[in-house]
Amino acid sequence: MPVRVGIMCEKCERIYLLVHPDNTQRIQFDPASDPHPYRLKCACRAERQFNKAQVLPYMVSERSCDSGYADRDEYYALVHVRHSGPPHQQSK
Ligand SMILES: [Zn+2]
Repeated sequence: MPVRVGIMCEKCERIYLLVHPDNTQRIQFDPASDPHPYRLKCACRAERQFNKAQVLPYMVSERSCDSGYADRDEYYALVHVRHSGPPHQQSK
């Protein structure tokens, strides 16, 4: 299965692949909204503001590559992150 980077809707857990022509409408960049300058508008009507740190690699099917998205049971997250809260910094 191919690996693509995508952003997940936190409500319905569908992911949208960043490199897909259909998703230029769904994923918008607004530098004024720093530190989360990107905004995803999901088909379920939820919106999520995010930054590049929240864009993660997912294993998806060829079909999902074509359609530009994958539902919860159609992808496999390669990186697991905590569901809420700020990212933890590693101290050395
Ligand atoms: Zn959604």
